[in-house]
Amino acid sequence: MEKLYEALGISPEVSAYAQKILAGLSERFQKIDETAEYNQLKVIKAMQDARVCAECFQATTGYGYNDLGRETLEKVYANVFHTEDALVRPQITCGTHALALALSANLRPGDEMISISGKPYDTLEEVIGIRPSCGSLAEYGVTYRQVELLPNGTFDLEGIRSALGEKTKLVAIQRSKGYLTRPTLSVEQIGEAIAFVKKMNPEIICMVDNCYGEFVQQMEPSDFGADMVVGSLIKNPGGGLAPIGGYIAGTKTCVERAAYRLTSPGIGKEVGATLGVMQSFYQGLFLAPTVTAAALKGAIFAANLYESLGFPVVPGGKEERYDIIQAVEFGKPEGVIAFCEGIQSAAPVDSYVTPEPWAMPGYDSDVIMAAGAFVQGSSIELSADGPIKPPYAVYFQGGLTWPHAKLGILKSLQRLYEKGLVTWENA
Ligand SMILES: *Cc1c(COP(=O)(O)O)cnc(C)c1O
Repeated sequence: MEKLYEALGISPEVSAYAQKILAGLSERFQKIDETAEYNQLKVIKAMQDARVCAECFQATTGYGYNDLGRETLEKVYANVFHTEDALVRPQITCGTHALALALSANLRPGDEMISISGKPYDTLEEVIGIRPSCGSLAEYGVTYRQVELLPNGTFDLEGIRSALGEKTKLVAIQRSKGYLTRPTLSVEQIGEAIAFVKKMNPEIICMVDNCYGEFVQQMEPSDFGADMVVGSLIKNPGGGLAPIGGYIAGTKTCVERAAYRLTSPGIGKEVGATLGVMQSFYQGLFLAPTVTAAALKGAIFAANLYESLGFPVVPGGKEERYDIIQAVEFGKPEGVIAFCEGIQSAAPVDSYVTPEPWAMPGYDSDVIMAAGAFVQGSSIELSADGPIKPPYAVYFQGGLTWPHAKLGILKSLQRLYEKGLVTWENA
């Protein structure tokens, strides 16, 4: 093993240091494996109950009428999330699309939506119209308000009480912190906020942006009263195998409205050819609990490793986790660059390319990105990115297997070590 690590460029000093950190993590890892076991059983039960069969993997084309695979998969998702129905489609191109679909399908002119977990994920700003954009909800006469989380990261119930009004039709909650430094919300916390909203007005639709949160805990927000949970298949629930796609699981009415919006009024869920991606959707969902566990172990390993070396990490090494994203602050651009180079050099694909900071659309600074993925842009695969601006933090996530996540983190440390950016003395 030692030899193979050396052949992959990991020096004995780096190996030995990492080993010390790893030795302290076995209890955490055991808990993660327990959650994975629970969720694996849940997924298998969901597939059995929906009577998944080999014919489900057949491709359909054209209108895709009576697509057994599509209809059964939507039952499986509804079973997993304990919802009345689900819409799971390759025609939903990404997480942002799934969220835009859920929102635009369930809101009408004159309605108001309120985000009660503060600022939503960047790409939703244009969907909602916080930043003016062609086709935003604002253009259709949907108004928006936002209630910030309290400084300690919990819901501001008083703020929510005073924000809810006559026009409030939908409340949005984002489970993951995304690329902010607030804490991620647990499903229990989300459940309390939903109960609070429902007590004030049971008609309000509670939607949870579930991106990066699926299978991190044993329960999902839909087990705690969410009317819709929404996410991307190139994150956790696709298990690394889904090449595209998004899902909305929720009440019959919410899902039906989303289907009418995705295809057409009157047609809804009845069409949508699956073009041969079904096997990857099923098999990816089957693998998703253990893949998510691998990514979580990687995040916890990195948090503890870099924390021990004196770098600020969010979440902290000892903190409970409710999503798979890890941030490490390096305080200078060289650290961010070295970290990303390390992640890239550990990849099974494109390991020989060197990532460089670049100006990217939508960012106000140069950004460096590391990804050597089988599916383009897939962030359940080991990937990292860092905006080149203070506090020079790198955000990383994913890893389809724990040994790969571990190698990526070792390679990142190796790079920092070779460039003289870490010394064991500050450990
Ligand atoms: C990734 C993400 C999205 C958007 O998903 P894309 O597939 O990138 O469009 C939305 N919300 C959260 C919290 C996310 O992590």
